Amino acid sequence: MTRIRPVRGDITEQTVDAVVNAANSSLLGGGGVDGAIHRRGGPEILAECRALRASRYGRGLPTGRAVATTAGRLPARWVIHTVGPVFTPDEDRSELLASCHRESLRVADELGARTVAFPAVSTGVYGWPLEDAARIAVGTVRAARTAVEEVRFVLFDERAYQAFAGQLR
Ligand code: ADP
Repeated sequence: MTRIRPVRGDITEQTVDAVVNAANSSLLGGGGVDGAIHRRGGPEILAECRALRASRYGRGLPTGRAVATTAGRLPARWVIHTVGPVFTPDEDRSELLASCHRESLRVADELGARTVAFPAVSTGVYGWPLEDAARIAVGTVRAARTAVEEVRFVLFDERAYQAFAGQLR
């Protein structure tokens, strides 16, 4: 059984085996969680991302997929980069958001990670409504078959915290 809990805080300060990054498909950095992870984790993470772009992911990491790098100077061993879908009311992209969580846990299992911190993927610049994102994220992690012992959803603000805590009650 995987323990799932919401935590209010900054994902770059979590002492866990793996931190999930809400990356963009370029893997070359961005704002929000991505910016914070690269700033605090240092240049080693970006160097590995560039190497991935030069090898396996020449066209970038597709939406819904996940890939790991070092966590550099973060208090974690790995960063698992995943690309959330951009929200649009014109098309149901829920399956891609679910896939981010499933694929991140699959990569965590490959690494042997036992504790994993997730941000609220897609709820920042990608515009996904919080309540719906929380429902999909929590539902997908609950249904996943994984050896990960603890999933921590790390929420930056009170509204996001309440949305995830509500799904976990
Ligand atoms: P996306 O592009 O997938 O929407 P963002 O990084 O823009 O990703 O935002 C995802 C969520 O992470 C937002 O709810 C945002 O408030 C939150 N967030 C931003 N910085 C941090 C941080 N350092 N730790 C945890 N959550 C963060």
